[in-house]
Amino acid sequence: MLKCNGERLWDSLMQMAKVAPTEKGGNCRLALSAEDRAGRELFTLWCRDLGMDIRVDSIGNLFARKAGRNDALPPVVMGSHLDTQPKGGRFDGIYGVLAGLEVVRSLKEQGIETARPLEIAVWTNEEGARFTPAMLGSAVFTGDLALERALAIRDAEGVSVAQALEQTGYAGDLPLGREFDAYFEAHIEQGPILEEAGLPVGVVTGGQAICWLDIDVQGVPAHAGTTPMPLRRDALFGVGEMITALEQLSRDFAPRGLVTVGQLSIARSSRNTIPGRVAFTLDLRHHEDGQIAAMEASARDLIAAIATRRGLDVTVERHWLSPATPFDADCIAAVKRAVEGLDYPHQMIVSGAGHDAIHLARHCPTTMVFIPCVGGLSHNEAEDALPDDVTKGCDVLLNAVLSRADRS
Ligand SMILES: [Zn+2]
Repeated sequence: MLKCNGERLWDSLMQMAKVAPTEKGGNCRLALSAEDRAGRELFTLWCRDLGMDIRVDSIGNLFARKAGRNDALPPVVMGSHLDTQPKGGRFDGIYGVLAGLEVVRSLKEQGIETARPLEIAVWTNEEGARFTPAMLGSAVFTGDLALERALAIRDAEGVSVAQALEQTGYAGDLPLGREFDAYFEAHIEQGPILEEAGLPVGVVTGGQAICWLDIDVQGVPAHAGTTPMPLRRDALFGVGEMITALEQLSRDFAPRGLVTVGQLSIARSSRNTIPGRVAFTLDLRHHEDGQIAAMEASARDLIAAIATRRGLDVTVERHWLSPATPFDADCIAAVKRAVEGLDYPHQMIVSGAGHDAIHLARHCPTTMVFIPCVGGLSHNEAEDALPDDVTKGCDVLLNAVLSRADRS
């Protein structure tokens, strides 16, 4: 089993963290901003030093390519993103890109040529902090989002993706949807599971299903002082009961079922008026499509039952459904062989967050490698990872990618 140079990787991560730092030790490189461009330029510089070719497609996805012995074969691709949240961390996305760079550096240093070409992808606007939706560049690449629609999306200042690409010089001509042999994305877990288990590496088997519902509850607004309690149709007390029941519902699907009410609004709220209309959002997640469907059905049933009993009207609309995304069995096996060969403690894990790899999984054989992050913290300036975990995750990526790139 090969090893990467963990010190060099850490050093690169820390150098990248100097591009657009925030006060509390994080980074602010919003997609296709001058700061994002500066991050990309530093990465590009490192890649050119290795003799890699840099190319950009029409949505600004950047690809650094190292030729293979048989360069006509589709490339094995690593990568992630360099854009951040407004108060983002130093590792989310950046780790996947710079681990890819360290793989190429290690192979070059150790005089290893692969049969297939290798590429490192930097996907545009993964975070969705400047342009919605998140994972925009990879969605356009895989055809999940039409290029024309994506180019027309505007940020809060009214600047379109097309204009931002023009301004940063990242409107390229590399075709979208090129054939990839495989895609491997290393990433911090962004949750507490690996740290809790004391494991340096997670072998990721896929992404979980997500169901978003919009619930609108209507009662009757009335005077808080003159309306006897039994005669009220209070939308908020109804919603309170619904939310308590929804937390209960999560226990029926434990431990994999996740239930979140992230937004709640009382229409025309006033301290001495009985709430007549309350809207809230529901985020349901589970590893399995069948279970997410069962969760949605149970949620709809309990909401309807509570509304009926309280004389409330309710509408439940599905805002978004993203099915579970199983990763490729061969790619997972390659990661597993690598982690076992290196004798690193690990566990299988499902990704709780969205990633470019979720889109890529519909395009080519795909998987991910997770490392823990301190306190499970991400999308936070204090986001941190341990140098030893950073190194081990990259060792796994290196060996998995090498076996894939050399397979006959
Ligand atoms: Zn990320």
